[in-house]
Amino acid sequence: MNTTPRVNQQPHSSPHNTQGAPLAHQKHVSSTSRHKHRDGGRGGNGGHRGRKPMQTRMNRQPENLDKKSPLIPPPAPGVLRVVPLGGTEEIGKNMTVLEYGDEIIVIDAGFQFSEAETPGIDYILPDVTYLKERKAKVKALFITHGHYDHIGAIPYIIEDMGNPPIYSREFGSMIIQKRQMEFPDVAPIDMHTIRGTETIKIGQHFSITFFPISHAIPDSMGLLIETPVGTVAFVEDVRVDHIDGKPTDKEKEHYAFFKDKNIVLFTLDSTSVEKPGFSLPESKALGTIDTILKDVPGRLIIGTFASQVERVIQIINIAQKYNKMIAVDGRSMKTNLEIVKLLKLVKFDNIIPIEEIDKYPANKIVILATGAQGEEYSVFDRIANKTHKYITLAKSDTVIFSSSVIPGNERSITKLKDSLYRQEAHIITYTDSAVHASGHGNRDELGWIHQQIKYRYFMPLHGHHFMLRIHAELAETLGTPKENIVIPDNGSIIEISEQGTKINVRKEKAPSGSIMVDGFSIGEHQKVVIRDRQTLAEDGIFVIVVSVNPRTGKLRKSPDIISRGFVYLKEQQELIAGARTLVTKTVEKTTHGMQPINFDIVKTVVTDDVRRFLFQKTGKSPIVIPVVIGV
Ligand SMILES: [Zn+2]
Ligand SMILES: [Zn+2]
Repeated sequence: MNTTPRVNQQPHSSPHNTQGAPLAHQKHVSSTSRHKHRDGGRGGNGGHRGRKPMQTRMNRQPENLDKKSPLIPPPAPGVLRVVPLGGTEEIGKNMTVLEYGDEIIVIDAGFQFSEAETPGIDYILPDVTYLKERKAKVKALFITHGHYDHIGAIPYIIEDMGNPPIYSREFGSMIIQKRQMEFPDVAPIDMHTIRGTETIKIGQHFSITFFPISHAIPDSMGLLIETPVGTVAFVEDVRVDHIDGKPTDKEKEHYAFFKDKNIVLFTLDSTSVEKPGFSLPESKALGTIDTILKDVPGRLIIGTFASQVERVIQIINIAQKYNKMIAVDGRSMKTNLEIVKLLKLVKFDNIIPIEEIDKYPANKIVILATGAQGEEYSVFDRIANKTHKYITLAKSDTVIFSSSVIPGNERSITKLKDSLYRQEAHIITYTDSAVHASGHGNRDELGWIHQQIKYRYFMPLHGHHFMLRIHAELAETLGTPKENIVIPDNGSIIEISEQGTKINVRKEKAPSGSIMVDGFSIGEHQKVVIRDRQTLAEDGIFVIVVSVNPRTGKLRKSPDIISRGFVYLKEQQELIAGARTLVTKTVEKTTHGMQPINFDIVKTVVTDDVRRFLFQKTGKSPIVIPVVIGV
């Protein structure tokens, strides 16, 4: 039978959510865009949720929402503990803990964008219970780079971590501080900007040096962490610049740093490990864009991820070279551009406001915009729908999709392309021209990095479980013994001991659930809300209002029925009549001899009977809400 902990509620009088907490004071500012762009070039686990059979829903057990974290003893003397709290079962919410003695440092604090499985949810955060319970130990948070899957969770969790100092290189540091302004209620952060390759000592046990790496956003870095058990080389998102599969001298220089170093633990990005060979180098993508931009007869509209900051910078430079004006549109793109401006990473002579594009000849205009994933209300969406205030597509316009298709967004991109083609503009995508390069290295790039570093243990990060497995196989083929590779899950507790000669994974796990940001509500409890949203979306809602004489238990009148998203009631008179008869019978049978009447029991019985009846008649199982009033 139904065991879902759904509280029967009166939808119009006192709104309660399924946990009985009042919702009235919570203002929901749910996101407007269903398909959000993510970190440049990375995948996602989107896709459309198939219809779940009714049984699975009905049989679900109530979740234990108030779980306490398991008792995990502190690390023994001489043990370095490594705990990935996120990023090893998904692309997103990256966060890793390093603990020695009574000191903890944390690397990255990202979030994940919501997927089709979590309707209405804005973001998913890593579970930081482990840190919350060890707040006093947390000495520092290091940020590898300014992408949201590495910084997004900061405003939500930094206080839970005890507000430790945050260290990042300049670009990341500016993005973090700028974003913090959107959270005026959060205590000020203690931001430290790393300018060179200085070494930072944290507490008694950690000493951290930084080295530059190539990715899609300026100032991406790797960390070299000296600990009492040896040195950890921590690398997250990375690609390798190359010419025809040969890493450039600059890359060789980056990794020459490792020549005389023995690393105990090495971690690395797994995002594109299943793609063979070397990825298209960024320089090739920019070369193609250069050629198109130079000769294009009309306006050029380039759609890319705002996270591809380095490409945005280069496109501005290319436009400058050909004396063309650039207009930028899209909130995230504008925000990043403000930082680019503050850091003087480009000359700003040729940037004009979007309102002024018509003041120049068409072939002098380049527009950089977001929304090439077909996100609702984005710049591209508005151009396609002909609702953009300043851009109306002309036949002479050329549109470049300088971005990949993130899995899950195929349908919205198809729709977008249909609309654009209908307006007869010239469209160029990454499938027919080399106009997009990923920020994440393919298999051979990752392999090359492995070969630059002498390490004992390897732990793949940044990917779904299967990607981590493929990455582990790669490490093995490159000579790392199988027993020296750890494939973690979120919450795995990995311990390195005996001066860096022993590694093991503890049997306990740190709490690692998904914490959801839903408007102003944050927590694991949102799972229950989401389950209701999914049922509402698939099967609708069925409300029965019953007035019962509390003395006799008889109905005062025939039950009222309200329903949305279930069946078209006007054409289902027979069903409604059947439901009314059933409810009347059920209520009067249940209340017979019951004095005083227990309304909760009545509601439960009515819910079960009606749900069964509706499923038999329609094959649908809407949320059934009985409102039983004693009058
Ligand atoms: Zn990144
Ligand atoms: Zn990332």
